[in-house]
Amino acid sequence: MKITLYNTLTKNLEEFTPIENNGVRIYSCGPTVYTYAHIGNMRAFLFADLLQRVLRRVGSYTVRWVMNITNIDDKTIRDSQPNSPAWHSALGVQTGDALQDLLALTAFYEREFVSDIAALGIEAKDFYKIPRATDFIEQMQDLLRKIVGNGYGYVADGSIYFNVSEYMKKEHYGKLFHIDMAGFKTGLRIDTDQYEREQVSDFVLWKGRKEKEPYWDFDLDGTNYPGRPGWHIECSAMEECLLGLPFDIHTGGIDLKFPHHEDEIAQSKAGYGIEPTRYWCHNEFLEVEGSKMSKSAGNFWTLRQLIEQGISAIDIRYAMLAAHYRTKYNYTSNGISAAGKARQRLQDYIYAIIVDAPYADVSGEIANDKMVLLKEEVFSALANDLHTPKALAALFSFINANTADSLSVSEKKDFVRLMVDVNAVFNCWHIGMKEDSVDAIPVEVRDLAEQRLAAKQAKNYAEADRLRSEVLAMGYKIKDTKDGYEVSLSD
Ligand code: AMP
Ligand code: ZN
Repeated sequence: MKITLYNTLTKNLEEFTPIENNGVRIYSCGPTVYTYAHIGNMRAFLFADLLQRVLRRVGSYTVRWVMNITNIDDKTIRDSQPNSPAWHSALGVQTGDALQDLLALTAFYEREFVSDIAALGIEAKDFYKIPRATDFIEQMQDLLRKIVGNGYGYVADGSIYFNVSEYMKKEHYGKLFHIDMAGFKTGLRIDTDQYEREQVSDFVLWKGRKEKEPYWDFDLDGTNYPGRPGWHIECSAMEECLLGLPFDIHTGGIDLKFPHHEDEIAQSKAGYGIEPTRYWCHNEFLEVEGSKMSKSAGNFWTLRQLIEQGISAIDIRYAMLAAHYRTKYNYTSNGISAAGKARQRLQDYIYAIIVDAPYADVSGEIANDKMVLLKEEVFSALANDLHTPKALAALFSFINANTADSLSVSEKKDFVRLMVDVNAVFNCWHIGMKEDSVDAIPVEVRDLAEQRLAAKQAKNYAEADRLRSEVLAMGYKIKDTKDGYEVSLSD
């Protein structure tokens, strides 16, 4: 099925066409790992997960999805300094070596991030080979040399800046954020990673070494400029190295449009002579009482805080998917619990139906006309700019109009087949017998177990064994049963 996406660059809904036949390459700006991610951040990662799932399962594309880990920037350096109040007691004693301390702090929060996204059912198999910014310093330096060599970068006070006015002579700076640069004052420079549009000026590419901060030597035309990368250059170099340019889709929250993504376009064009991507896709904010949830505003919840309050990760996942990614989502605990009830209604319907149509018995195509139409409705909503609320509305109007008892056995089998496909995108339900469902089992594990069953049914035993080991590595075991399988904690 053809997929339509809203492209921030053109401000239009566009039919998606991949650059290479059948293979889609996506880059998502990942977390800055100086503390726990909050659920506003998670909305951005859930959106990227939804996008790649829709491309795979609705668009039938293979997908290469890269999400980076920002483990060096202003904040990670600030919080890994000796005596930083943010240095987590669990991390133990600092070594006093700025780079070692930075790597220890960020490795800790990276592990926490990976466990959070697993709990949220994000299909992170591809980017589990996590690309960390500090592992790509050489590639960043290569890009810097290109930018300076092409006349778009200059040295000032030991740092290297991007020359925006030089760039504007040939290119359109502001094309993504749709800003008019008419009043741009030349010669101003900004050193921070984040800045407002009013401050737009030459931005920093490489920050000269500061005492007690991590640094790398950087040879530029025979002179050493010890320092460390600016935030924007990290993504530009990593996406070129990991995906090649241009790649298909770049994602992030809308706050990244400017300056981060605008600067990524400028760096890429100035250095490699090519823009990073054709489709820029951004999710709207998760808000609290009308303001963006953010660490700096202090109005945030982390996933683990919500789990401690008794809210389940799967309900959070569902609540976020029930809103369209381009609308603001106002977080309230009542909203999550209402979403949880809706999710459970569909879950109960699946349980009522699956008694007559066991999961293990439903391979094959959907046959009944009304179920073919329902699938068409759900999948075309997803294909239309990932319209999850419309897809869910179609499912709910079906279950409102058809009690579980009113369906024939063949319709029940079709409904389970449909939900297997729907769940490959939503990953919010247990498609199995009620008594087999163990809420404590993470959706990620259940997903792997279901993939293993599919591999077994396809007689791909090597893959089935590999998936079983993957589940085992996550602390769970799979036991085959007459009707399929059971998953439980490994002993
Ligand atoms: P950070 O870890 O701050 O670099 O942010 C990671 C991702 O979270 C980026 O894509 C941000 O745009 C996104 N983000 C931050 N706050 C929110 C929010 N309140 N709602 C939605 N996305 C957000
Ligand atoms: Zn980025």
